[in-house]
Amino acid sequence: MPKQNSSRPRLTTTAGAPIANNQNSLTAGDRGPILLQDWQLIEKLAHQNRERIPERVVHAKGWGAYGTLRITGDISHLTSALVLQPGTETPMIARFSTVAGEMGAADHERDVRGFALKFYTEDGNWDLVGNNTPVFFVRDPLKFPDFIHTQKRHPRTNLRSPTAMWDFWSLSPESLHQVTILFSDRGLPISPMHMNGYGSHTFSLWNGQAERVWVKFHFKTRQGHRCYTNAEAEAVVGRTREGYQEALFGAIEAGDYPKWTMQVQIMTEAQEREFPFNPFDLTKVWPHADFPPIEIGEIELNRNPANYFAEIEQLAFSPSNVVRGIGHSPDRMLQARIFAYADAHRYRLGTHYEALPVNRPRCPVHHYHKDGAMRFFDNMPIPDAYYEPNSFDGPQQDSAFSEPPLDLYGQADRYDHRDGNDDFSQPRALFMLFDEGQKARLFANIAAAMKDVPLCIIERQIELFRQVHPEFCAGVYAALDALDPQF
Ligand code: NDP
Repeated sequence: MPKQNSSRPRLTTTAGAPIANNQNSLTAGDRGPILLQDWQLIEKLAHQNRERIPERVVHAKGWGAYGTLRITGDISHLTSALVLQPGTETPMIARFSTVAGEMGAADHERDVRGFALKFYTEDGNWDLVGNNTPVFFVRDPLKFPDFIHTQKRHPRTNLRSPTAMWDFWSLSPESLHQVTILFSDRGLPISPMHMNGYGSHTFSLWNGQAERVWVKFHFKTRQGHRCYTNAEAEAVVGRTREGYQEALFGAIEAGDYPKWTMQVQIMTEAQEREFPFNPFDLTKVWPHADFPPIEIGEIELNRNPANYFAEIEQLAFSPSNVVRGIGHSPDRMLQARIFAYADAHRYRLGTHYEALPVNRPRCPVHHYHKDGAMRFFDNMPIPDAYYEPNSFDGPQQDSAFSEPPLDLYGQADRYDHRDGNDDFSQPRALFMLFDEGQKARLFANIAAAMKDVPLCIIERQIELFRQVHPEFCAGVYAALDALDPQF
């Protein structure tokens, strides 16, 4: 038995009692069975059984770090958000992720990347839960669970299904824009540092004069865009499945702190009413020529978490978390996410997930929610004020934080989101940005992903590519032909 070295901390049970022997179970004789009385053994086994929580259904595999948001521009006339005032520095944490793969998936897979930011502001946490693409596959959240099912495993084969993916995409032309990005070079960034982040949804900014503008947030990588081809990524995955964690963790440990320039695009309410298409449609961008990006700051990541599970796996973002001066918009996908994200965390982490250290706001928190599993936060300052309204000087609402009222947009109905929508012009604008090499890789990536899909689905999808641009259609045909001359 090793003697206790007095300079080292004493091992204890979770209840704090010192442990005399952590090497040998308590047995009846040196050949006999274990006694139920061996509480320390039972505790160790029971804890191990509980080391996992449900992984996220989407965005399960992630990498994250702490940092700082610095505001260098001036949009104080547009917003009373303290976090966006000139010169403000706000602590933050970021989590990047793939969407479809499970926690054990390889990092270097062709997929959209999550780009989620939590800013610990003086007015509470502001979460901007974006992606590395400015758009998304669907514009109506009623289609979201079906879409995600096509990205996950087939119920019988338990394999990913290209047939399901292309069937859904070919029946959903609004996905063309995001599909074009996904199979372009930017669909496989070499690391989290080498990609842009986009708030993607339209949000709003409001000021002390009860004026509102619509806003989109962009974060442009300062490390440059760097992407792998499919073949390069396959070689990397053959060496390591954890390339993003290695790159991000390693860069920050080495003091090589990644940065992104923060930009906003602003649309007035009057411009929105005149706008030729629905600016709250998540499958579309606001053209830069009409709404020029305005640089307002930068984010820098400069500290690795001390404990991955506590600080990244339990890190909980929700688009419901906005602060004074920043609001939501009628974007249907955003409205669904406002519910779905907080709900996912209540399921994964428990009712009081926002009291966990990584999620806890850095400002005072006063609410009247009460008990439930894992309640470990203090009473409010006045213990008698545990309901509202009360006569005991408990926390009260403050109308100074009221968001300007929003004009609603007409009669409630299930409007067909496809009516009058042009799903082709913006993918075409993107396609026209690609040089010949980028186009060739786009065609080859698409052909490789759809080659085993039933012909009727391929033909339906290629007809959509034709409507984007005849060259797009011809290029994919030629790439399929190169893979299989019988095609
Ligand atoms: P612009 O030419 O003014 O904007 C081009 C935007 O596209 C830039 O933000 C640029 O990002 C990005 N971009 C450039 N090359 C590529 C590429 N190979 N793959 C993906 N993105 C690229 O044009 P518009 O604003 O009129 O937009 C044209 C198309 O560009 C859109 O249909 C959309 O697909 C795409 N785009 C537009 C964005 C927007 O907010 N308007 C944002 C991102 C993409 P970067 O500066 O990092 O190179």
